[in-house]
Amino acid sequence: MLLRHTTDKIQERKALVVNPAKTCQPIGAMYAALGIHRCLPHSHGSQGCCSYHRSTLTRHYREPIMAATSSFTEGSSVFGGQANLLESISNIFTVYDPDIIAVHTTCLSETIGDDIAQIIAKAQADGKIPEGKSVIHANTPSYVGSHVTGFANMVKNMVMYFSKSSDLKREQINIIPGWVEPADMREMKRLTTAMGIKTVLFPDTSDVLDAPQTGRHQFYPKGGVTIPQLQTSGDSKATISLGEFTSLPAAKALDAKCKVPFHSLDIPIGLTATDRFIQTLHDVTGAAVPDEITDERGKMVDIITDMQQYFYGKRVALAGDPDQLIPLTEFLVTLGMQPVYIVTGTPGKRFEERMSEILTDAVPDAKCKQAGDMFLLHQWIKQESVDLLIGNTYGKYIARDEDIPFIRFGFPILDRVGHSYLPNVGYAGGIRLLEKLLNAILDRQDSMSLEESFELVM
Ligand code: SF4
Repeated sequence: MLLRHTTDKIQERKALVVNPAKTCQPIGAMYAALGIHRCLPHSHGSQGCCSYHRSTLTRHYREPIMAATSSFTEGSSVFGGQANLLESISNIFTVYDPDIIAVHTTCLSETIGDDIAQIIAKAQADGKIPEGKSVIHANTPSYVGSHVTGFANMVKNMVMYFSKSSDLKREQINIIPGWVEPADMREMKRLTTAMGIKTVLFPDTSDVLDAPQTGRHQFYPKGGVTIPQLQTSGDSKATISLGEFTSLPAAKALDAKCKVPFHSLDIPIGLTATDRFIQTLHDVTGAAVPDEITDERGKMVDIITDMQQYFYGKRVALAGDPDQLIPLTEFLVTLGMQPVYIVTGTPGKRFEERMSEILTDAVPDAKCKQAGDMFLLHQWIKQESVDLLIGNTYGKYIARDEDIPFIRFGFPILDRVGHSYLPNVGYAGGIRLLEKLLNAILDRQDSMSLEESFELVM
């Protein structure tokens, strides 16, 4: 209903966000933590926060998300949450027996100022953390940043807590995949395995959040990076970090802590970003690119050639997370499309700089906004419409109101199933994206065409 009142008159807004294009930090921290084997995420705050984070992840991944909470009441809000967290740590190890508890904060515990590192040290000193078990943490105040920031903070702290360097350098590389679907992480591992490269990929939610149905509930599914693997990341030859917003802070921390050089790339979404990923894998390890991968690339190029005439000049609006939007926009430009409006709710000037590099020549009048909202995107569309909208589930209201074909992409997708089981990255993921793009455009063309021009063959 609110959308019907959206006007095309844009007014400067500093202290008002309408329909945010982001969600809160702890959701990202919780998702990252689930990428560690036998990890139980723990929300240090009130129960409502934890319920919201769990339900959003559960709805997107269609898996039951397990997480614990310090369960703040009025007392903890006034006196601090140390007692609650100490008791939680004790109870969790006794009842749920995880290998690791990953604590993230919430707005409330951040405002109180709880010192989580000190509380974990006290838990250790008091013997509440059993031998061989770990507790890590990340600060995730949700009044700054977004779910992307929370994800990055937790991944960085995996390095701060676990990575070690010894004199032994290992024939392996680290890959920090960024916030991608479990199927994307699996696809990255398939590509590196095909090249014969040993990797430590962290976090790794494949086989955690896309685990097969076996008829038997497993509280801790088989997937996830293990703590011993994380510890060896300090002895790897190099790190490839995918996404400046989600992965670069961890890569920098690993370089500073263990002197592991890093290569910062985009998430391999689309042809050229995947080319850079494969080329860097080759450059860093010397591994040859097998025919299997070369053939996949060739197929993708062939499909682009067949489809390109339908993509050319199509105007596209996008909303989502910066690390995904940057390579996706580049991909659309490669296809001859016109990404004209791009919004992310995550703050960071670097997003607009990267977009300007990609769009200045190809789409000089494109509009791009970091720390923007869906309301602004809708206003731009009201001013001049587009042929396609790409974004998470919340975009469907704009698509319906403006009668625009819509492709669900990013996080969260709450009204469809299956997205977390199929990759968007690599050449295989690129082919999947191409099919979705073309179907959206041609389905619209079919539904709008006159009877005499309704063609059987395109
Ligand atoms: S924004 Fe803050 S208070 Fe709201 S759910 Fe997230 S952490 Fe909790």
